[in-house]
Amino acid sequence: MAARFTTRFAPSPTGFLHRGHAFSALTAHAAARAADGRFLLRIEDIDATRRRPEFEAAIFEDLAWLGLDWETPVRRQSEHMDDYMAALDRLQAEGLVYRCFRTRREVAEAIASAPHGAMEAFAGAPLPPDEEAERLAAGAPFAWRLSLSAARARLGGFGGLSFVEEGAGPDGEHGLIPARPELGGDVVLARKDVGVAYHLAVTVDDALQGVTHVIRGCDLFEAAHVQRLLQALLDLPEPVYRHHRLLTGPDGKRFAKRDRAETLRELRARGVQPRALRRELGFD
Ligand code: GLU
Repeated sequence: MAARFTTRFAPSPTGFLHRGHAFSALTAHAAARAADGRFLLRIEDIDATRRRPEFEAAIFEDLAWLGLDWETPVRRQSEHMDDYMAALDRLQAEGLVYRCFRTRREVAEAIASAPHGAMEAFAGAPLPPDEEAERLAAGAPFAWRLSLSAARARLGGFGGLSFVEEGAGPDGEHGLIPARPELGGDVVLARKDVGVAYHLAVTVDDALQGVTHVIRGCDLFEAAHVQRLLQALLDLPEPVYRHHRLLTGPDGKRFAKRDRAETLRELRARGVQPRALRRELGFD
């Protein structure tokens, strides 16, 4: 029997939700309803430097105001570090990750000086063991990066890797998409100080929560290429993807926290009714 349709809305509590988030949550919620499936809410709070409890509280309040309901208990990523560490351990044991001691700036410089310039994503390699031991002894910070060359060797190339896109990527990509994890380079999966990074946490959670359909904005389309590779390396089930368009404001620009888009709480404070907002966004 096929797994029951399960999707999720996975905001990070690093700001207040705006119309773009409402559109994304409503899209996933409506899809779950249409399929008589499950709608989950997941709090992606692994970034301890940016998360704030008031943003998390506002997520629940704003989504309830919008008329959404979700399954409980809600998964909060910061409470599941063990799950991510278990996945990281496995990748370590299989030689699929390496410690990278380069700073962000050094990585940017390496990319800029690569033969294909900015087109080339970062790919590094582990340090020789004695040099690594020296840095570790000196307490140097490092990140765990996924080694694309090790992953390629393990899978015999990425040719057999693809994912199903039922929505559309930023350039209209739809259907069976060949995965190109090399677009992202050797991504960071964990940091010594912050613990797990986005791609690993999302991939592990989607699998553990039985997510069959990843519904999210097409700004995350490229992430699917990397996440599909992680699924293959960790023997996790493969969800279907439905990336949706990004909502733009009257000026044609997309809604984003950094542009100070009007938040759902501001809308509410000036008397906008949830029904009116849902209708404006194309629901109801
Ligand atoms: N937490 C991510 C964000 O707020 C979304 C992750 C996902 O949907 O895969 O952008």
